[in-house]
Parts: sequence; C-alpha cells; structure tokens
Amino acid sequence: MAVTPGERLAAAEEFMPGDGTYEDNGDVYASVVGEPQYDSEEYSVRVNSPIKQPRLNVVNSIVYGRVMQTYDNYAIVQLYPYSTKRFRLTPPSSFAMLRVSNIRRGYVKSVRDELGVGDWVRAKISDIKAKFYVNLSLEGPKLGVIKAYCPRCRTPLVRRGRDLYCPHCKLHVRRKIAEDYGNPQLPR
Ligand SMILES: [Zn+2]
Repeated sequence: MAVTPGERLAAAEEFMPGDGTYEDNGDVYASVVGEPQYDSEEYSVRVNSPIKQPRLNVVNSIVYGRVMQTYDNYAIVQLYPYSTKRFRLTPPSSFAMLRVSNIRRGYVKSVRDELGVGDWVRAKISDIKAKFYVNLSLEGPKLGVIKAYCPRCRTPLVRRGRDLYCPHCKLHVRRKIAEDYGNPQLPR
C-alpha cells in the first residue's frame, strides 16, 4: 500500500532509514509518496529509489499532494515527489492551485464541501502558466482524495459508499474521493 510523507514506517532500531525516508525521535518515516520496501537482511527500509528522477512539467501529468488551505473558491495543495517502479517523479513546483471548478463535473459551491485540510490527493496538472503557477484538476474517477483523517480525532477515515466515515466519532465526511481510496495504487 502506498505511504505518504510523514507516515511512520518502522522503529529505527529495527529498520535503518534508507532512501525516501527520514528518522525522527527513534522512528522512521516516509519522505515521498511510494511503496515502502523493507529489507530484513540489511535491516533497512526505503521508499523506492530509482536513479531516474524526471521532473513532471507536462500538462496531464499525475501528481500527489496534501491539501494545505481551503477557501470557497480554491485550495492550495503542497506537492510531493513520488516513486513508481522505474522513476521518482518530482512535481513542477512545491505548491499548486486547485480551483473549485476543477474538483468534479457539475457545480460545486465551495471547495470545503469536497476537500479538507490535510487530505492527500491524486491530481492531474491541468495547466502550467508559469513555473510557480500550476493548476490542478480532480475531475474523473481516478482522481481525488486517496487518504484522509478525521477532522476531529485524526483517525484514518474509511470509505462508506461515496463518502467517508470516522469509525471513532461516527462522523460522516463528504469528499471527492478517488476510486481506490484507502488502498491507493501508484502509477507504474
Ligand atoms: Zn473521528
């Protein structure tokens, strides 16, 4: 299962931090989006580290990021590198803009009806106006939230029908989710 940056992978005394990870306070965490690989002979863990690291600067490229701010009309998404079997892909900028009109087909009144701060999303680059001005889209079944935590208690939200649900608070949370929410598959 794909992990996201900041996700705990192991105790540092059991697995040494390798590529695509970092150590903090005795634990090892992912620093990129990818599949973790545990090496039980070398006692190390890494999140895939291919040599090729092309930059994604083409419209329609898939990117992964975390929602940092939400407003009615747009959200700011922080983009992270991610690993596939062959590449580690670097986004064109650290931050990107997601407009309310690009969340899904049809009318969306407010970004906050479909996304929350801290959500992890798979998005498509819809437009690059300048190096530091990237627009994203979440339209289509493959795009949207891939991982989210309860806004009240931070428990990972589980899918329930088309929405998300906190098993701890019994809270229903509406999100524009990707079809593989909860077990996100990375592109190969
Ligand atoms: Zn909760």
